[in-house]
Amino acid sequence: MRKNIVAGNWKMNNDLPQTEALISDLKKQTKTSNAEVMIAPAFTNLWQAFETTRHDDIEVIAQNMHFATNGAYTGEVSADMLKSIGIQTVILGHSERRAYFNEDDAILAKKVDQALSKDLRVIFCFGEELADRKAANHEAVVASQIQNALFHLDASAFKNIVLAYEPVWAIGTGETASPEQAQDMHKFIRKTLNDKYGNQVADHMTILYGGSVKPTNAKEIFSKPDVDGGLIGGAALKAEDFYAIVNAF
Ligand code: PEP
Repeated sequence: MRKNIVAGNWKMNNDLPQTEALISDLKKQTKTSNAEVMIAPAFTNLWQAFETTRHDDIEVIAQNMHFATNGAYTGEVSADMLKSIGIQTVILGHSERRAYFNEDDAILAKKVDQALSKDLRVIFCFGEELADRKAANHEAVVASQIQNALFHLDASAFKNIVLAYEPVWAIGTGETASPEQAQDMHKFIRKTLNDKYGNQVADHMTILYGGSVKPTNAKEIFSKPDVDGGLIGGAALKAEDFYAIVNAF
């Protein structure tokens, strides 16, 4: 089922008091759109964030998880651990995980499998580098990222997947894909899904755009027919800005 979602990826920002303060500010905002609102605080603050938003229209989600069920993976967090504190959704494949922690398509395919096997919903991120776009290779890169990490799945698995197209050159750079560039890529992603799984999967897939979305550009980006919402980094750290984006629908 296609939904409108605005998810804030807090990355490695905000300790516990800062997390509590930002959540308190978020609760003071008024939501005037039908978008689902999600926030992804750091692991150490997930439980507190989950508890303090229990009765609010905000879903607390995780930024990452490991592909193994448990075991000797020092420093890692499992799907079961996330589930045990009430988390239902996990971001996988963020470009920072790919770039700094060597998460390739094969690792991400295993993470996706593990998350889905534990009934976690996955927000699967992908996107091309600037060099790919300059070489007009962006569609091929995005298609291969999706195919390599997701196309071993049955069609039924996609009801628990949200896609997030995040061109790497637009993340944290202040440079946003134009609404037309976002629309063109989202349409291409839907076609790629349609070619493999048919329109039942393609038409119902929620596809988010991420990359320097701000209150000033959200409305235009979200107005495009194949853009179903946003994954928001920097602007998710200020409650007013985040809700201005949520309310841009
Ligand atoms: C992100 O990290 O997913 C992101 C989109 O960041 P920003 O909005 O800061 O570009």
